[in-house]
Amino acid sequence: MRTPIIAGNWKLNKTIQETSSFFDELLPVIKETTSPEIIICPPFTSLQTANQKIANSNIKLGAQNISLEIKGNFTGEISAQMIEELCTHVIIGHSERRNLYLETDEEVNKKVKNALSHGLIPIICVGEKLKEKENGNTSAIISNQVRKSLKGINRISADHLIIAYEPVWAIGSGKTASPDETNTLIQNVIRPTVSGLVGSDVAENTRVLYGGSINEKNIQTFLAKTEIDGALIGGASLKTNIFAQIIKLSVK
Ligand code: PEP
Repeated sequence: MRTPIIAGNWKLNKTIQETSSFFDELLPVIKETTSPEIIICPPFTSLQTANQKIANSNIKLGAQNISLEIKGNFTGEISAQMIEELCTHVIIGHSERRNLYLETDEEVNKKVKNALSHGLIPIICVGEKLKEKENGNTSAIISNQVRKSLKGINRISADHLIIAYEPVWAIGSGKTASPDETNTLIQNVIRPTVSGLVGSDVAENTRVLYGGSINEKNIQTFLAKTEIDGALIGGASLKTNIFAQIIKLSVK
């Protein structure tokens, strides 16, 4: 039985003050919630405040990225070692990092290794572009991204791995993937690829999320699918009332 996860990716949104207000509103509303597991990923500047706010709550904190490096002369970078002091999770390889900042599969792999070696749980994002989907290449693209992001990692426990399938064309567009096609992709491509790399037991127990234009109206159609273990949510994670509704609807 895989506990569902609802993760919010705030991207480049919310000041420290806004972060503080968000948690003040959300915490009382979800205080009795034991499932799903809730992970919120604010920008770096809000992590300290968020970390204080979630103490004694059922919310976990994630960063949105980490450096390829751990320490040294790398101006403007934030390392896994620094994030480990504030967070349990980190998003790695989000399509905005891959496409806007040209992050490669090799870099994603190095960041995943950095995260794991500092006790952070990576939320590894994979997803095809519209052209790739139209050309019928979704399965090949996704299995390749999963394989490359886990390269050289032979042993991992399922609680230290989260994969988010986020078709690039569905992010922030108001269009979602089909829940049925997503379910089939996870079943026939993502889990078998993870299984081939780190074993069937890990593959069976790894939480695989869907991301791309999830909101309070469509979350249940995705969670109704057996292979979909939750969602990574951008826009709809920014408003407390919408995010709280999604959490309440996310019971498997
Ligand atoms: C995301 O950025 O990971 C995402 C899924 O965004 P949105 O929910 O806004 O499509």
